Amino acid sequence: PYERIVDIRQNNVSPALKTYYQKPLLLHQGHMQWVFDSEGHRYLDLFAGIVTVSVGHCHPKVTEAARKQMDRLWHTTNIYLHSPIHEYAEKLTSRLPGKLKVLYVTNSGSEANDMALHMARLHTGNFDLVGLRTGYHGASPYTLGMTAFAAYKGGVANGFGCYSTMCPDVFRGIWGGSHCRDSPVQTIRKCSCPLGCCEAKDKYIEQFKETLNTCTSKKIAAFIAEPIQGVGGAVQYPKGFLKEAYELVREKGGLCIADEVQTGFGRTGSHYWGFETHDVIPDIVTMAKGIGNGFPMAAVVTTPEIANSYAQALHFNTFGGNPVACAVGSAVLDVIEEEGLQNNCKVVGTYLLQKLEKLRDSFEIVGDVRGKGLMVGIEMVKDKKTLQPLPSDQMNLIWEDCREMGLLLGKGGLYNQTFRVKPPMCITKEDVDFAVDVLQVALTKHME
Ligand code: PMP
Repeated sequence: PYERIVDIRQNNVSPALKTYYQKPLLLHQGHMQWVFDSEGHRYLDLFAGIVTVSVGHCHPKVTEAARKQMDRLWHTTNIYLHSPIHEYAEKLTSRLPGKLKVLYVTNSGSEANDMALHMARLHTGNFDLVGLRTGYHGASPYTLGMTAFAAYKGGVANGFGCYSTMCPDVFRGIWGGSHCRDSPVQTIRKCSCPLGCCEAKDKYIEQFKETLNTCTSKKIAAFIAEPIQGVGGAVQYPKGFLKEAYELVREKGGLCIADEVQTGFGRTGSHYWGFETHDVIPDIVTMAKGIGNGFPMAAVVTTPEIANSYAQALHFNTFGGNPVACAVGSAVLDVIEEEGLQNNCKVVGTYLLQKLEKLRDSFEIVGDVRGKGLMVGIEMVKDKKTLQPLPSDQMNLIWEDCREMGLLLGKGGLYNQTFRVKPPMCITKEDVDFAVDVLQVALTKHME
């Protein structure tokens, strides 16, 4: 019963793990884009277990692949050969460009990013690591240094050699964002590039250069960035920023790491990988979350040269490359292709953004709607003039009401002011209609 579970939660489960909602939701079952609570209520899951259930809860093909492999062989370690990891390595790397052909399988995004950062230090012989503010890369001691959110650090200082530079946020950033509407840099917003921010890009690049020059060693091991920030609240960068940043990092001898934990596997709709939307090819790509549709797995893919440098260190990972995980990963790749889910992200994502733009235009507290494909953020503000974040009480009332009406949304952003919409990639236009209707009712109720 519900009360007993809540009791155990309070007494025997880590208090650091925060639950959503005033009355935490006890989920019992999932089917594709839907989840069901213990009383049988159905919810449209627009947060997908935090951007993880990529092809749908309990997708029959993925479940079947796991079951088949479980009947055959659950586990060896990588001291023996087994076919699922090799089939998976071939299949996954065939979806990556250039020399990105060598796979490592790990168990979580933090672990994948840890490995990528360590790999970059080993390969380059340099030490300093650079990331963007409001970037999230994990909660392990290594990655926590690159997760540029004070809230996650609990007052503990970054590891040595970790630097964060200004995030070129085209909405909330100090240059180019809506923020500048009434300022002398207003013209930046009006430039002709799609994000209205070419000049802003140059200013952020100057900042980026400065950070690279203030790094103690003046040599960079790696720059890590998400193609669109996830936990940061679907934050998008000015066109061309990442490309120039990559060039500058490489001039300093560093490697470029794309954290595709949220943006990969077709979620952005236009491309399979988020980095492709920026016209760059990273040296290392990290993946997690949607890679296993909820099965705990993650991956790092890099070039043979970097992989050889990493091979100088003895590497061991008990569960990484587990046969069941690899069988699941293969099935996920097949389903994305067979069911045209990347294209679905594009079509349904465009439809969603169009409908949300109408909400933005009719509600003063909807400051910005943005994103790509099914990686969308709705940034809530007190009013469109000051752009101050919507007070958390009001934000929560809207969010709780959505849940009451059967809609689950995520939250993120520096002030927790952005609703995050990152559903299973199989949602339909009818689901979008339902979600936007629910949001409209909740917004109307809590406008003041
Ligand atoms: N990178 C990004 C972009 C993420 O969003 C997350 C998780 N929120 C991670 C890395 C860390 O992944 P995990 O929680 O699996 O360690």
